[in-house]
Amino acid sequence: MTQSLEKSLTTPTTLIELLRLRADQTPNGHAYTFLIDGKKETPPLTYGELDRQAKAIATLLQKYQARGERALLLYPQGLEVIAAFCGCLYAGVIAIPVPPPESGRLKRTLPRLRSIVQDANATFALTTEAILDLVEGVKEEFPEFEQMKWIDTATVDLSLAEGWKDPQVDKDELAYLQYTSGSTSTPKGVMLSHFNLMHHASYLKRACGYDENSITHTWMPYFHDYGLVEGITVPLYNGTPCYLMSPFSFIKRPIQWLKNITKYKVTHSQGPNFAYDLCLRRLRSKDMAQLDLSSWEAAGNAAEPINPKVMMNFVETFAPCGFRWETFAPAYGLAEYTLLVSSKPKGTHPVFACLDASALEQDKIVDADPQQEKGTRVMASCGQLVCETKVAIVNPDTLTRCAKDEVGEIWVSDPSVAQGYWQRKEATEETFQAYIKDTQEGPFLRTGDLGFLKHGELYITGRMKDLIIIRGTNHYPQDIEWSVQHLNPVFRSDYGAAFSVEVEGEEQLVIVQELERRSGDLNFEQLLGDIRQEIAEEHEIQTYAIVLAKSGTVLKTASGKIQRRACRQNFLNGTINIAAVWSDNAEVMS
Ligand code: ATP
Ligand code: MG
Repeated sequence: MTQSLEKSLTTPTTLIELLRLRADQTPNGHAYTFLIDGKKETPPLTYGELDRQAKAIATLLQKYQARGERALLLYPQGLEVIAAFCGCLYAGVIAIPVPPPESGRLKRTLPRLRSIVQDANATFALTTEAILDLVEGVKEEFPEFEQMKWIDTATVDLSLAEGWKDPQVDKDELAYLQYTSGSTSTPKGVMLSHFNLMHHASYLKRACGYDENSITHTWMPYFHDYGLVEGITVPLYNGTPCYLMSPFSFIKRPIQWLKNITKYKVTHSQGPNFAYDLCLRRLRSKDMAQLDLSSWEAAGNAAEPINPKVMMNFVETFAPCGFRWETFAPAYGLAEYTLLVSSKPKGTHPVFACLDASALEQDKIVDADPQQEKGTRVMASCGQLVCETKVAIVNPDTLTRCAKDEVGEIWVSDPSVAQGYWQRKEATEETFQAYIKDTQEGPFLRTGDLGFLKHGELYITGRMKDLIIIRGTNHYPQDIEWSVQHLNPVFRSDYGAAFSVEVEGEEQLVIVQELERRSGDLNFEQLLGDIRQEIAEEHEIQTYAIVLAKSGTVLKTASGKIQRRACRQNFLNGTINIAAVWSDNAEVMS
């Protein structure tokens, strides 16, 4: 036994030591199973096999002297990408999990990929034969792809594993770069060290209540922090089996997610708010008899704003299948903090706050009567701070702590905070090294998200960059979008963007809402009028312009987040595919 393995048998400090420990202690232990088309099981991948595959890939990378270089991971969801990720780690190569280019959508997927290659100065790409073929066709247009070394990892000879040399990676070295989804800015590479990941996995184990009997299932993509950290790494950390399916299978047949939870008696599985909503929309009555969700202990719900109504409908609908209120685990996190800042403790009832809506518009937290419907806002708590996480709620203008009953920017500090943005000194200082002005406490990570703490629960009100401020009053775009989408089923759920534009020195509200594809003949005048009235009544705003658009208009990131800034830009450029429009302003109408 080598020295480092001996050491790792007590406490692994890197992912390399962790996987080697698993492979040594339980070589036949069930690590991962992929469900093809969401259903058909691949043979289970064991720790021993994963260790061998990782060693073989790493040996090849070592032959190319790749230590310290950056390597893209471009795969369909599955077991191959996990081997490639571990292969990078075993070679001391910094992995970059990114969405693979898709045929038919190359124009949309390649530019982001290119900017990541340039930003990270990636010199390797680990991938599959099919993706290689796809990229081959566009290499001429993208010279930076030409200069990289492309490796189809399925062709790597497993016997190379015998030649692997332990690169003696230190816990503080980088394991991977997580590019942010780019919903509010151009993607930046968040630098995560082995220590970040190991430390955070130990947090998640405690905070989300994993134990040796946990069984996990994820369809969240490997290139999203939720998928990579909680979906893929945490089961390895815990030594428990994980069932994976692709996000495409989920979108196609969301109920299959619930069927898999039933079949494999899954205890932990997670998704953003939209996933729970999608299940409700696609449910057919005959599905119910096939579902037993009683094994599900923690249904993680994070990555985007949580709609309490969706939670309520989900619990009501699936209670006959054994889904309990306690099952829901609302959480909040970001790549810059490895993953989760807060999460609801396992087995407890989710907590909600009923607040005075107009006070909230002025950043004040005032309790309201839950019996009252108008003028109140019900919010789901995103749980309690994960383990030893420290949070300060800070006024983003004065950079001093907010009073207890005020909304402010969420600042966090802990060893879970990432190492900064790859090669962006200024942005790193700005975001990762913030100090509270009067007390000089710090350094904190500035999350860019607004929220508040109430009785130890963390609530997220929205993103600073997306906040719509009209006449000194704050409006959160997701609230306006939800109001519109609940008016009429022809408004495509989750495909709307509310933002403000400046008109004669004043901020004004614009709403772009996609229509369902098969909505038939529509009375546009009526629909536009309904939106105006709803926004005036619910939010007390006079809308400046409403655009009903064809599908494909509202831009989203690879992880499904609405790119409001990009929609705004398209609105200003006049490049929206309009079905109908209403505005006070004749220029907009033309
Ligand atoms: P970019 O920074 O490029 O815009 P991104 O912030 O969307 O990308 P991620 O790190 O994947 O990239 O997402 C983290 C963000 O997701 C958080 O900063 C927050 O805005 C949002 N988020 C996560 N969980 C929640 C939640 N429970 N409620 C509301 N928003 C959430
Ligand atoms: Mg972000």
